[in-house]
Amino acid sequence: MMTFPIVMDGKAYAAEINENLKRRVESIVKKTNRIPVLATILIGNDPASVTYVKMKGNACKRAGIESKKVILPESITTKDVIGQIQLLNEDENIHGILLQHPVPGHIDEHQCFNAVAPEKDVDGVTYSSFARTAMNEMLFGCATPLGIIRLLEKYGIELEGKDAVIVGRSPILGKPMAMMLLNKNATVMICHSKTKNLDQKILLADIVVAAVGKPKFIRSEWVKEGVVLIDAGYNPGNIGDSDIEGIKEKAYAYTPVPGGVGPMTIITLIEQAISSAEMKYGL
Ligand code: NAP
Repeated sequence: MMTFPIVMDGKAYAAEINENLKRRVESIVKKTNRIPVLATILIGNDPASVTYVKMKGNACKRAGIESKKVILPESITTKDVIGQIQLLNEDENIHGILLQHPVPGHIDEHQCFNAVAPEKDVDGVTYSSFARTAMNEMLFGCATPLGIIRLLEKYGIELEGKDAVIVGRSPILGKPMAMMLLNKNATVMICHSKTKNLDQKILLADIVVAAVGKPKFIRSEWVKEGVVLIDAGYNPGNIGDSDIEGIKEKAYAYTPVPGGVGPMTIITLIEQAISSAEMKYGL
């Protein structure tokens, strides 16, 4: 029997997906004698980024693929980061490339993301991947929003005809999230720091995606009864971008923090790296 609110458990679902990924990797190895490799690029030593790259390396291990860590100094220039990405683009043994976000402020992150070859863009961050997503012809989706869509589908959350409000318009989260929800026939509003009367807009939403980067930003009195809350936020102390404790009293379904969106992001990245290898070898 279903109990409410539904807790959309990304950790459990990612573990379930991983079992299937392990079988896919075994099949690739058997047929090609090659192991898929994800290159992870870390610039500098921001503690959160170091942790994320480590978590992604561990997830590679769990799925049975290899990770190649590329660690670059904080002082590196945009041109040299692009040079490193080009080397990985040309490397036959690399199937996917992840540039850990955010990069130090002096580096042009858009240019660096966009230097990744589209067929290796398993984090879905190039202009090409965004355009394909917007045109509903996705090759690789941006990992966090695609992970969210998969979690919503896993829990049978209806999207068609629903009103979705996304708070945040970053290129790696809010914007591609909007395109993906639109592709699922939701009616989408994207809000940002210049949005007026944000609370009134959120109150209309059947689905709220919190992607603000501010702890507990979305308040429980802003959401309507029966809301589906996706909290993509990940602030120090395992705190999301919404007041989950308050909102879950009113919600139909919600993602916990931690254990909701985060594991889905990582497993989506790994899955796309495996898909990239399968495509390369025509499997
Ligand atoms: P970001 O690039 O900093 O973008 C934040 C967005 O929030 C911007 O569009 C900004 O608007 C908007 N915003 C800021 N203050 C606002 C306000 N007062 N009212 C309305 N909108 C406001 O952040 P991000 O990279 O998208 O990340 C968002 C959150 O998701 C963070 O908590 C991050 O840690 C988390 N995250 C989690 C994962 C995961 O795997 N779990 C992955 C990526 C990110 P403007 O555009 O107007 O500045």
